[in-house]
Amino acid sequence: MALPPPAELGMSLEEIDTPALLVDLDPFERNLRRMTDSLQGLPVRLRPHAKSHKCPEIARRQIALGAVGVCCQKVSEAEALVEGGIADVLVSNEVVGRRKLERLAALARRARVAVCVDDAGNVDELDAAARRAGVELDVLVEVDVGAGRCGVPPGPPALALAQRVQAREHLRFAGLQAYQGAAQHLREGAARRAAIATAVDHVRATVRLLEDHNIPCPWVSGGGTGTYLLEAASGAYREVQPGSYVFMDADYARNLQAPEASPSFELSLFVLATVMSRPTASRAVVDAGLKAFSVDSGLPEVHGRPGLTYVRAMDEHGMLEAAPGVQLPALGEKLLLVPGHCDPTVNLHDWYVAVRRGRVEALWPITARGAVW
Ligand SMILES: *Cc1c(COP(=O)(O)O)cnc(C)c1O
Repeated sequence: MALPPPAELGMSLEEIDTPALLVDLDPFERNLRRMTDSLQGLPVRLRPHAKSHKCPEIARRQIALGAVGVCCQKVSEAEALVEGGIADVLVSNEVVGRRKLERLAALARRARVAVCVDDAGNVDELDAAARRAGVELDVLVEVDVGAGRCGVPPGPPALALAQRVQAREHLRFAGLQAYQGAAQHLREGAARRAAIATAVDHVRATVRLLEDHNIPCPWVSGGGTGTYLLEAASGAYREVQPGSYVFMDADYARNLQAPEASPSFELSLFVLATVMSRPTASRAVVDAGLKAFSVDSGLPEVHGRPGLTYVRAMDEHGMLEAAPGVQLPALGEKLLLVPGHCDPTVNLHDWYVAVRRGRVEALWPITARGAVW
């Protein structure tokens, strides 16, 4: 049972109930177009990561602007996107456990589905699940190109796993997943360039080794918002998978500009909050706390109100501080907060309230909200 949205079409910001997750449509649409434009003439496909928005409506807009499909991180997220009409999904992650593998294989009857592996036993279980479902699955071997998350080391371990996939009847070896996640938020452009140069070296060496063993590697995917132009221009990648660019967040805004790695995208995601208490002359409390945004990348920033700082988050409350000489907002005032990290913030909300120049234009359900299994 979905809860009703916190707004109605045509409302002004003042009328929207809070906390609400707002998408500002003008910068949002510019971000989508800027992504497509930035890849013109480069030898890569665009497969945006849907873990950032969890919303088929947004995925459809990305596809209308040239994306070939989406990435998802979890089987349930992929199920929600396929249910919403998306026909081509890469689960850019490992899927472990019989129940999950069954659901993944069943999904491949309804859409084109690919998945990543980094373990030989998991390859066998994936093959068994595909056989039971009567499908063939595209499989990417995930290579750790420096992120230190999942993935086998580049070179011989990746070759061994690719050979194992190739030998399975219900799996197709499709290529490599080579996402350098740790590079995305490196502040300096030079540091991001160096990290991706290393990743590209690992990809090239691994692809060469595979080809030496007669294993073609048509699909190499990776790249996020902070670096994707570097992967795209390298010639070693065939696909990029940025996610956060649609919204951006306070943490990405702290990256120093590096146009060769990523164009400047605009903030388009906000949590609208109301001042719900002014108990003393020096204290204002808003109604948006830990259940309205994530704080793993820092507290939210108060948008367009210099001198006002969000200093402490509790479950349902947030404390604001004013710099000397700056007025605290009045009881009932509405404030726009910029989340520190967009993806986990989105996962806390059921609806996007899409606004244009201060008026509600659309309400989009976040149908993969909570789809983390
Ligand atoms: C999160 C993620 C992305 C997208 O990263 P952004 O920084 O949001 O652009 C791409 N690929 C994988 C595998 C990811 O986990």
